[in-house]
Amino acid sequence: MDLAYTAEEEAFRDRLRTWLAEVLPKLPPKPVATDWPGRRAYDAAWQRMLYDAGYAGLHWPADAGGRGATPTQHLIFLEESEKAGAPYVGANFVGLLHAGPTIAAEGTPAQRARWLPPILRGDEIWCQGFSEPDAGSDLAALRTRAVRDGDDYVVTGSKIWTSHAEVADWCELLVRTDPEAPRHRGISWLAMPMDAPGVTVRPLRTLAGSTEFAELFLDEVRVPAGNRVGAEHDGWRVTMVTLSFERGTAFVGEVVACRRVLGELARTARANGRWDDAVLRRRLGRLNAEFAALWRLTQWNVSEAMGVPPGHGGPPARAKPSVGEDSRPRGRSGGVPGTGGSVFKLRYSHARQELYDAAAEVLGGQALDAAHPWVADRLSALAYTIAAGTSQIQRNIVAERILGLPKGR
Ligand SMILES: Cc1cc2nc3c(=O)[nH]c(=O)nc-3n(C[C@H](O)[C@H](O)[C@H](O)COP(=O)(O)OP(=O)(O)OC[C@H]3O[C@@H](n4cnc5c(N)ncnc54)[C@H](O)[C@@H]3O)c2cc1C
Repeated sequence: MDLAYTAEEEAFRDRLRTWLAEVLPKLPPKPVATDWPGRRAYDAAWQRMLYDAGYAGLHWPADAGGRGATPTQHLIFLEESEKAGAPYVGANFVGLLHAGPTIAAEGTPAQRARWLPPILRGDEIWCQGFSEPDAGSDLAALRTRAVRDGDDYVVTGSKIWTSHAEVADWCELLVRTDPEAPRHRGISWLAMPMDAPGVTVRPLRTLAGSTEFAELFLDEVRVPAGNRVGAEHDGWRVTMVTLSFERGTAFVGEVVACRRVLGELARTARANGRWDDAVLRRRLGRLNAEFAALWRLTQWNVSEAMGVPPGHGGPPARAKPSVGEDSRPRGRSGGVPGTGGSVFKLRYSHARQELYDAAAEVLGGQALDAAHPWVADRLSALAYTIAAGTSQIQRNIVAERILGLPKGR
């Protein structure tokens, strides 16, 4: 993998820096974490600015409305945005980072034309309705049912831990369309409008005080059959695509943010005398190495997801899958990140918790001050080893699919 920057990539970096320096000072302050409608408006406005300036969907294939930029340009974008203090993806997380890429990979041309442009412009926000009270790690146990009635599915059931549900326009929803089939074979992936009659959203408050997720209650909600992405009953396969994006590439930008926080920890420790503690210094050094390694893994995952051929900054290509007339870039895993994403998700979520534990060490008594941003971040870091699949589940995937160990009972 060639990690040197080309002249073109450096020119891209310069243009981006100039643009960020021009627009960021004009942004209003970000609404507080408990004001989700305010956050939605803020995140959508930022996405629109990116879109108008040509920076939206850099990592999306060009024929899905993206820029078809190189993986390196995408990573430069994340690095420079973070360094300049640009807003993070926020409420656009699901749409931009896994629902959109799933529709780009699996949707029909009409579905791509309907849903992808509004995601890129920040006009429509998505949420993810996968987990249910008895179907989290064991996702295939889901019970929300969808019964075909003419051109619609009639959906009844409930979902839980649905991030951004309070402000979302669409939900990537998993439903059981064939209750008689083996668990993994009777599922379908639907795009459900959140304003459809029968959808009730009940916000849940997190440890950190935000209502970023909610319970969803679905009572005979009519969803057009044309909103199904992939074939009927083939939703498990589509779900694996969504989870590959969620675990493999969705948290990429946050690694840059963690590296910035680590730098701030070192500066604060020098200023308040904690730097004299050799044990703490070693801990920060180890974290620095860990995040540097995660960044390299990120480069690999992003390259793989974008299907970059060998010698062009990406991993070795596999045989091209048969995709008919499709012109999307395809690589080792057909444009979708591979199981390496589970290695990333596993290590990243633990490193993030270790980072904020170290922050508490650096802060000393101040770590009890709930108003300090690192304290709220420490509380929310606890969720990362659960969200998008727990660490135990990632370890199972690594053991079975990467190391080839026998399947557990
Ligand atoms: C901040 C946050 C945001 C989230 N956002 C969303 C969202 O937007 N949409 C959505 O659909 N879901 C969302 N989730 C839900 C998340 O995906 C689930 O919480 C997660 O998959 C775990 O499922 P569970 O909570 O049902 O736990 P369970 O599946 O009940 O697991 C309980 C414990 O048992 C362990 N366990 C279970 N099965 C096995 C096994 N086979 N081998 C080893 N250990 C096992 C688990 O690792 C865990 O430690 C979110 C969660 C969090 C924390």
